[in-house]
Amino acid sequence: MQTLVDIKNLNMYYPIFTGSWSAKKEYLHALNNINLEIKKGEILGLVGESGCGKSTLGKSVLKLINPSGEINFEGKNVLELKSRELKDFRKKSQMIFQNPYSSLDPRMTIYKILREPLVVHGIRDKKEIETRIHEIIELTGLSVEDLKRYPHEFSGGQRQRIAIARALILKPDFLVADEPVSALDVSIQAQIITLLKDLKEKLNLTILFISHDLGVVKYLCDRIAVMYLGDIVELAESQSLFEKPLHPYTQALISAVPSIRKKEQDKIKLEGELPSPKNPPKGCRFHTRCPFAKEVCSQKEPEIIKISDSHYVRCILYP
Ligand code: SF4
Repeated sequence: MQTLVDIKNLNMYYPIFTGSWSAKKEYLHALNNINLEIKKGEILGLVGESGCGKSTLGKSVLKLINPSGEINFEGKNVLELKSRELKDFRKKSQMIFQNPYSSLDPRMTIYKILREPLVVHGIRDKKEIETRIHEIIELTGLSVEDLKRYPHEFSGGQRQRIAIARALILKPDFLVADEPVSALDVSIQAQIITLLKDLKEKLNLTILFISHDLGVVKYLCDRIAVMYLGDIVELAESQSLFEKPLHPYTQALISAVPSIRKKEQDKIKLEGELPSPKNPPKGCRFHTRCPFAKEVCSQKEPEIIKISDSHYVRCILYP
């Protein structure tokens, strides 16, 4: 499969205000030298606990923040794009946010919400605008009648459909979906997941799907990257990640996914809280919670090990 997005040596530091202008500046290291390829036509899941850097990575990929490193999209480093090229990239890549309640302007009808990105990108022909809006509204499971209504008249699931329609109106190639179902009821989550899967096939999309819930990504994603405290600790095809998770953190996350066959004693309980990215542990960042940690783990950062062409893990347990 061809690579659509190639992320190289990505680091993101957020400055922290310590309360005194004269004090030494402190930084929160949110992304630690990330290298990752997103293949054309795939849904890549990005999972981990909240605060591990998933959303920072998603925003970086769309140049909504400014990390250091490289993000190559169609052969160009997105982080260096300016004016016209950046506008072109914005058309080809879109984001779906977690909260459909706050991401839609309550003063605009659905028609205006969908028309706005088209006008911003220079599409002024009335007929073309109308055709595109009607096409996308039907693809996302809403009706032409809904275009006259306002966001507050819809349920949470319907609002997320509108947000998806707005993200797709410019016919992008690439979507970043940041926890798009976590604010919805479980029954509605399944409908939105099915819709995204369906749209990916119909529109030949590539999707980076961010979630803290492995149960959600299991059925949707082709491959899954597991993040812990700014590091990618494991990357594998979805099926092999669930059948044979290698990293102790992935094993703990998968053991916590609810299942009727799983017994309480099968769950791997992690000790302690996620350490602060302001002061991450030295060596393997997971060593303070890892049940298999050895002395070397607190001293040396493990390399990424290639287990097979599609399975990578960052842990000294694998030679
Ligand atoms: Fe655990 Fe050591 Fe592997 Fe880190 S490198 S996951 S601490 S065994």
